[in-house]
Amino acid sequence: MSRGRGWLNRLADLFFPPKCVFCRRLLREGETGFCRGCRQKLPWADDPVFHGPFFDAGVAPLRYEAMARDSLLRYKFGGMYRYADVYGALLAVSIAAELEGPFDFVTWVPVSRKRKRRRGYDQAQLLAAAAAERLGLPLRGVLEKTIHTPPQSGLQEADQRRANVLGAYRATEDLTGCRILLIDDVVTTGATLSECAGVLRQSGAADVSCAALLQTVRGK
Ligand SMILES: [Zn+2]
Repeated sequence: MSRGRGWLNRLADLFFPPKCVFCRRLLREGETGFCRGCRQKLPWADDPVFHGPFFDAGVAPLRYEAMARDSLLRYKFGGMYRYADVYGALLAVSIAAELEGPFDFVTWVPVSRKRKRRRGYDQAQLLAAAAAERLGLPLRGVLEKTIHTPPQSGLQEADQRRANVLGAYRATEDLTGCRILLIDDVVTTGATLSECAGVLRQSGAADVSCAALLQTVRGK
């Protein structure tokens, strides 16, 4: 789907015919990434915009439910990293519609080195890269996860989630005056995005806006 990879994608399509990233049905002529049926049936968020400490606004177009959740789980744990292109395109449309730029660059909520090694890739980084490409913005890794914390998904309460990520990230460079778009895959209470946005602001960022593919109702 990226520029310059056209022939490679066509070759890949011969061996892996493109399927809808949500329902896994073979795509028809004129469909890219996901099918028309899913476009209608996906759990679109009634209110995609959210707010939190240290960032101006955030957008998350889909609810963490049904086929959207199942798709993301295949992406994160089932090796379907090719979904990033489709997710990124979807996210870019929501960002352009709901968030006020301009942004100097896109960055992401990183996983710890240990988790990246185990999984082989950083799912938020791939998502951010795909969205950045669609938006015509540079991608810059400016955050580092310094502590290996238990996954947020195992923690139910907002307080626990905040405590779990407190001090877990640091900025790797001075960000004075930067307007930053920060991306993660899922937003729940917003604790992780707020913690990272706070770190970016402490390093001088002028503005931080956030985007995630999915939101859980708890985050509202
Ligand atoms: Zn579908």
